[in-house]
Amino acid sequence: MRMGGGLRNPMGTVGGIPRTFGLHRQFGKDDSAPPTRIDRDTFRRIVAYFKPYWVKWLIVVACIILSASLAVLPPFCVAGIVDVALPQQRADLLLWLCLAMVGLAVTTGLIGVLQQTTTAKVGQGILYDLRLELYQHLQTMSLHFFMSNRSGEIISRINNDVNAAQGVATGTLVGILSNVATLTATSFALFSMNWKLTLLAVAVVPAFYIPSKYVGRIRRRLSTQTQETHAELLGFMGERLHTAGVLLMQVFGQRKADAVIFSEHSAKVSELHVRQTIVGRWLFMILSVFSALGPALIFWYGGLQVMKGGLSVGQLIAFAALLTLLYRPLMQLATVYVDIQGAFAVFDRIFDYLDISPDQQNPAQPLPLPETKGHVEFDRVSFSYPTADPARSGTDAPQDPDTPVIRPALQDVSFEILPGQRVALVGLSGAGKSTITYLLPRFYDPNQGRITLDGHDLRELDQDEVRSHIGMVTQETFLFHDTLRTNLLYARPDASEAEMIEACRAANIHDFITGLPDGYDTLVGERGFRLSGGEKQRVSIARALLKDPAILILDEATSSLDATSEYLIQNALETLLKGRTSLVIAHRLSTILSADTILVMEGGHIVDTGRHEELVSREGLYNTLFEQQFRHVLDAEKAP
Ligand code: ATP
Repeated sequence: MRMGGGLRNPMGTVGGIPRTFGLHRQFGKDDSAPPTRIDRDTFRRIVAYFKPYWVKWLIVVACIILSASLAVLPPFCVAGIVDVALPQQRADLLLWLCLAMVGLAVTTGLIGVLQQTTTAKVGQGILYDLRLELYQHLQTMSLHFFMSNRSGEIISRINNDVNAAQGVATGTLVGILSNVATLTATSFALFSMNWKLTLLAVAVVPAFYIPSKYVGRIRRRLSTQTQETHAELLGFMGERLHTAGVLLMQVFGQRKADAVIFSEHSAKVSELHVRQTIVGRWLFMILSVFSALGPALIFWYGGLQVMKGGLSVGQLIAFAALLTLLYRPLMQLATVYVDIQGAFAVFDRIFDYLDISPDQQNPAQPLPLPETKGHVEFDRVSFSYPTADPARSGTDAPQDPDTPVIRPALQDVSFEILPGQRVALVGLSGAGKSTITYLLPRFYDPNQGRITLDGHDLRELDQDEVRSHIGMVTQETFLFHDTLRTNLLYARPDASEAEMIEACRAANIHDFITGLPDGYDTLVGERGFRLSGGEKQRVSIARALLKDPAILILDEATSSLDATSEYLIQNALETLLKGRTSLVIAHRLSTILSADTILVMEGGHIVDTGRHEELVSREGLYNTLFEQQFRHVLDAEKAP
């Protein structure tokens, strides 16, 4: 089926490397099936989420016990009416018993309202806690995690899975408690009435539990599959309904094909929901048959007793009425087992995410570095991107001659940037330039060697503190769907209006912003699509200026802009780079000419180092690159 191939994982590899994290269970392969037993660890973890709400739970339990106890009383009223009030012609007793039945209904109803309100509060509380925990955990995840999982799928876990977990967890728990309470109260009532009949009634009980165990297993698998398919659907939608995805779809005329894939996905979701419902209904049907068996037995045996005079008609009717109160919770408890399996499947998915530990851990006792001189050193650094199969990873894996090894992104890279120096990275595509810029803010840790800031290994420092000293201006400027002011202040929320304006002036974007209808309060739309490339770059430069970091990482845009924009950006960049330690992926002639050191990269190695004049005078990669990329620019500048 088409869905199984291209769609299931359209970005099945990252840079030719299979995805990792093992979270992306594939639908078609799902018959490897999630675990079906209810394991203790999962149970303990689930219980921990309920603990903070124990007072509210006590209220819920009290309500449940109270309403279960009250529920057994109406049949006694009926027995009183049939056996006493009617035969003895006592109108007053008849009235009181009828009023008691109404009173019991009203009281039970009111208790029900209190119970449901409290349960909803607990449920929403757990939902809030889970969602927040998951979100905060995801914030600590590495860049690699987000590169390896589609955003829609991640959102699906925070949203759909957490919602499902909350619903099932509170619903199931309340179900268990209320059914156990009703069962206990009813059993007491039944035994007190007639123990022989009671024993007959409970003889059919084991029959309730045999089918539910089997159905529970199916339900757990279906529940996992449903959540996964939902996540797939959201992942797909997240990509295709994203501005860039829509653009791609329109340019390549894939509207119909995408709709087909979507409909297949959507059909799968519907089908799974139908299957879940059907499984539930079949179980219910089987259980209904068993629960009809009990009353039939009672009416047969009890009827014979009435004929013999050993039992009154009122008692038989009351007993039969109580029997429904016995079987309904029994039936529901049998299906609760099925629900528990569903709940465990959902919680398992959430715990899967919570259990991924961030690749870059903060040290237990980080060295403080509130200020930095901006002295950076890479010391024999080698690095491979994480892979699903460590045997294919280049730097730290046991080598098997038959396994094709992926070339490390960086190999034995050493260089130093003195405070305030400007270092430019040049090299062919895939040489490892971006990788170097990812390692400095510790988005990844080297497999070998070390990176130091002011002489301290980055792994000894506080991650947030290191990042607070580093600014990044990337090629692709991301702006939140919010006002320009909010986007700018994201860099430093406590900056004053004057500081923000000063940064924008320095980035040559202030005049443009004030010319907009809403000025700094202009909404920049999702991904800032309403601004041109050059304008977005200048906003990004202003943002970095506002942060005022000691170290700046700059990935210069490759796309050429018109002369005015280019001038404005270059001017803004010069202001930004001034006096800072900077690492620049250079695409502009002016940058390489002004760099204190140029690192020439090829295949993950630094193959040459020096200033422009030295490098260009030598035969080698730099010379070739310079001739290809910059010679004509230089010549054009020199031309009269
Ligand atoms: P470009 O100029 O095209 O941006 P680059 O010099 O910046 O290239 P890098 O992006 O650092 O090159 O990539 C170096 C190597 O690492 C490449 O072979 C690339 O395929 C690989 N690579 C980059 N990112 C990842 C990733 N997230 N997972 C796996 N491999 C990656």
